[in-house]
Amino acid sequence: MTRLPVRDDLKALEGYHSPQVDVRVRLNTNEAPVGPPAEFEQALARAVADVDWNRYPDRAATDLRRAIAALHGVDPAMVFVANGSNEVLQTILLTFAGPGRTVATFEPTYQLHAHIARISGATVVEGERAADFSLDLGEFRRVLAAHEPHITFLCSPNNPTGGVDTEATIREVVSLAPGLVVVDEAYGQFARWSAVELVSDDSSVIVVRTFSKTWSMAAARLGYAIAPSWVVSELDKVVLPYHLDAVKQAAGVIALRFVDQMNERVRAIVAERERVVSALQRLDVDVFPSGANFVLFRPRGRAGRAVWQGLLDRSVLIRDCSGWPRLADCLRITIGTPEENSLFIAALTEVLS
Ligand SMILES: *Cc1c(COP(=O)(O)O)cnc(C)c1O
Repeated sequence: MTRLPVRDDLKALEGYHSPQVDVRVRLNTNEAPVGPPAEFEQALARAVADVDWNRYPDRAATDLRRAIAALHGVDPAMVFVANGSNEVLQTILLTFAGPGRTVATFEPTYQLHAHIARISGATVVEGERAADFSLDLGEFRRVLAAHEPHITFLCSPNNPTGGVDTEATIREVVSLAPGLVVVDEAYGQFARWSAVELVSDDSSVIVVRTFSKTWSMAAARLGYAIAPSWVVSELDKVVLPYHLDAVKQAAGVIALRFVDQMNERVRAIVAERERVVSALQRLDVDVFPSGANFVLFRPRGRAGRAVWQGLLDRSVLIRDCSGWPRLADCLRITIGTPEENSLFIAALTEVLS
């Protein structure tokens, strides 16, 4: 038997690497440290008992789109929902990228933007961020002039660096970019300003959000885009019919009844983040400023990989970015519970001593 090789353009592709290992302290994938409120779980259990299991779910996810639209003060026709924001990104790229089209990213940023764009068959142009990882408008203009990308990706707060783009920068990018601008706001709850303000039917701006991080619902796989309604109707044609199951739709609607609790959690995470940052600043590491629920840092004069392994040996798992392009020796810690953060700080202090 001969094995059918993959598509020529996918031969060099690498999969998503983030080890799922059993440890005491898991701070590697930017999830919320605690589950949703108990009332959420009870209400969801009641909703599950009411599901018509023999019937397909509401294909338009009407209630969920309405609830998300109300949260952001937009028309439900401007809401597209999918199985995690990764599927939202994939649908955008399948619809508007693909062979013959160009997608621009500004690195280092969320790896899946370039990864999914390549799977769609598009050409990816990687622009460079400034040395402090902020978006460099000069570089942005250069990429624009040289490649006229069909889709430009921004990510604010940016994963994995933690930096937040200013409103002025994002407005400038939107005013100059020739095609669609996708602003990934997976950590948008931590930022003071949202690009949702820039989305209208006369714009080419798409803002992508997720329930996975701040909303404590990574297990549910639920994400969405706020986009011009003409974009949403095209995405609706490309995504598979009935892609959102009934339980997930119910989970999303119910979650949105707990906005106050979620905002309270964001405040608690920010307070813990500041505590972790101060602790890191007292150690022999360089810390990058973060506006999200994670912090990027670089041990001074030591191999990042060895420090990561030292932490793992103490049952503390964080993200090893040390082998990623432009992030030599960098590690990223997700803010966890106060206990988890203290265990991380103690373990790191030990590893570095
Ligand atoms: C985690 C993350 C996502 C993916 O979120 P899902 O909704 O779980 O698919 C998208 N973008 C960024 C920047 C992220 O960090």
